Amino acid sequence: MSREQEVVQACPTELFIGGKWRSADGGRTLAVEDPSTGTTLCDVADASPADGVAALDAAVAAQAEWAATAPRERGEILRRTYELMTQRADELALLMTLEMGKPVAESKGEIAYAAEFFRWFAEEAVRIDGGYQVAPNGQGRFLVMRQPVGPCLLITPWNFPAAMGARKIGPAVAAGCTMVIKPAAQTPLSMLKLAELMTEAGLPAGVLNVITTSDSGGVMEPLIRDPRTRKLSFTGSTPVGRSLIEQSAEQVLRTSMELGGNAPFLVFSDADLDQAVEGAMLAKMRNGGEACTAANRIYVHSSVLEDFAAKLTEKMSALKVGRGTEDGVQVGPLIDGKQRDKVKDLVDDAVQQGARVLTGAEVAEGKGYFYPPTVLTDVPKSARLQKEEIFGPVAPLTAFDTEDEAVAMANDTEFGLVSYLFTRDLARALRVSEKLETGMIGLNQGIVSNPAAPFGGVKQSGLGREGGSVGIDEYLEVKYVAVNLD
Ligand code: NAP
Repeated sequence: MSREQEVVQACPTELFIGGKWRSADGGRTLAVEDPSTGTTLCDVADASPADGVAALDAAVAAQAEWAATAPRERGEILRRTYELMTQRADELALLMTLEMGKPVAESKGEIAYAAEFFRWFAEEAVRIDGGYQVAPNGQGRFLVMRQPVGPCLLITPWNFPAAMGARKIGPAVAAGCTMVIKPAAQTPLSMLKLAELMTEAGLPAGVLNVITTSDSGGVMEPLIRDPRTRKLSFTGSTPVGRSLIEQSAEQVLRTSMELGGNAPFLVFSDADLDQAVEGAMLAKMRNGGEACTAANRIYVHSSVLEDFAAKLTEKMSALKVGRGTEDGVQVGPLIDGKQRDKVKDLVDDAVQQGARVLTGAEVAEGKGYFYPPTVLTDVPKSARLQKEEIFGPVAPLTAFDTEDEAVAMANDTEFGLVSYLFTRDLARALRVSEKLETGMIGLNQGIVSNPAAPFGGVKQSGLGREGGSVGIDEYLEVKYVAVNLD
């Protein structure tokens, strides 16, 4: 048996409910595909709405006891999870590459990033504070305590199969919440494996329940509308997020929403061009462009556009595309045929509207959903890819002349997740940073994600923050006690 088969075979494929692995209602299953070959890796349980309710039942049953555990105990479980993930990084990374497609080196990067959320929230679990205050009139006292929100629903996308879950499970466990998590049907294996690992790390039965399903709407909607659910944390696209907010309105459910992005990347004339190109490679090509933080619109000052384009094109055209398990591969396939067709349509549309192809844009024949690293220049404002998330390895370049024009173009979107800004002028860096309408800014750097920093967007990129010292707040309620001293 090959190492790949061994790793897939060692991964659980059933639902994880109340600390037990069990098959779905009626034994239904769904296939998990390797996007680099289009072949089936294995079948996992395909939960029905009744399975979903069983998972919520388990989370609700475990909530009171879990909330009463010592913060140190919760922290230690998270710490052990971090250690186990780190020790087994090779196996976890290979599993991720098989189901999602990104090169193994990138999967290892994601495993390290995901593990860091467990380390970070292991440290935060013992720092949940409260307050004691003298009332302004000097007579009464205010006590403020922070308590776990209660049973949570967590929904995650396929593009970061481990990290998007870790970013929610870490703080939820630290805060004392129980949860039902539903990974994307296309990449359920990393989450099932993580559940196994957290059990080994000592997580009690019922705290984390995992359901996999081909019917995400049918299974999740009843749970969102269930009065026992106290919180929904979603990472995914803006249209789905919007509909989940609507469903959450019925129970006035607390929601955290990490939604789509359309990141502008600004290169001013005084930027260190080599640094800006390196930054663009990271901001564009991390995860093959399938990232909410991906630079989607690259605006370059007209005086340096030609140089920047030449340097970026050289790097993009040198990238090795292939199956993520092969040595030296830097760009894997896109997640599926639909996504590849979408990227192709967006590029064709831009070209029809006058954009010039500097490299890429030609889909190779053969198995797997590959799309070549592509650079387009002179991309007009009317091109669809200036408005829609590309989610692929396509870098569209557009010139600007003034700072005000650059800021206006950057902000001309309903999204507001992240922007990138390259300049050596400190005053400009601060001035522009204050004007950019995004939750995060990469200043002279192409990556902003860090478990110790607050990740999240404004406008239609979402609500709330994950990570940092505020990440745990999403899973805590504030309760205030008015104390009468008379
Ligand atoms: P998606 O289609 O919105 O799906 C995200 C998750 O929601 C998946 O688990 C999906 O399950 C589930 N889902 C879909 N429809 C649902 C429904 N009606 N009810 C309940 N759950 C439902 O997004 P995606 O294509 O997987 O991921 C890409 C998107 O995520 C991009 O827009 C990207 O920007 C965004 N994203 C944002 C962040 C951030 O931190 N802001 C991070 C990563 C990704 P199934 O797929 O199994 O149906």
